[in-house]
Amino acid sequence: MERAVAITTQYVKDRTAFSKPLIEFQNTRFQLAQCMTEARVGRVFLDDCIGRFIAGQLDDVTTAMAKYWLTECGCRIVDECVQLHGGYGYMTEYPIARMWADSRAQRIYAGTNEIMKELIAWSSL
Ligand SMILES: Cc1cc2nc3c(=O)[nH]c(=O)nc-3n(C[C@H](O)[C@H](O)[C@H](O)COP(=O)(O)OP(=O)(O)OC[C@H]3O[C@@H](n4cnc5c(N)ncnc54)[C@H](O)[C@@H]3O)c2cc1C
Repeated sequence: MERAVAITTQYVKDRTAFSKPLIEFQNTRFQLAQCMTEARVGRVFLDDCIGRFIAGQLDDVTTAMAKYWLTECGCRIVDECVQLHGGYGYMTEYPIARMWADSRAQRIYAGTNEIMKELIAWSSL
């Protein structure tokens, strides 16, 4: 997520449309601000999970929440970053295109996110 935001921030400074860099369009800045915020929330949650894991206190439900939510969040952010790249975002020469494919797989492997939600629901509801 953080890497996607970083490379997209650089891209929108370099790429021009209608004679000005993409970063000068308010929509570009708003979308990136949203991505940065979500990535920060994700980082705080992930770091908390790592801390709990090191202390031997990471429970299964929180682990399932982390796998589910962080991978969904990652997909949302990378997808928006592809959008900000325009057509180049679809070209595999660009790292963001490969990130998009990789982030999509994360919702499937290591147990699909539907199974993560089942684990959360079984334990908590
Ligand atoms: C890139 C990649 C790398 C992988 N690496 C490994 C690896 O190293 N080791 C390994 O063991 N496996 C690996 N896998 C396999 C991966 O773990 C499985 O693909 C994953 O667990 C989903 O299983 P499945 O493909 O059989 O899908 P299925 O179980 O057939 O699921 C199909 C759909 O049905 C849904 N579904 C299934 N059961 C339920 C249910 N009870 N409730 C609600 N929805 C349900 C799923 O969420 C999914 O949307 C990898 C997969 C990929 C894509």
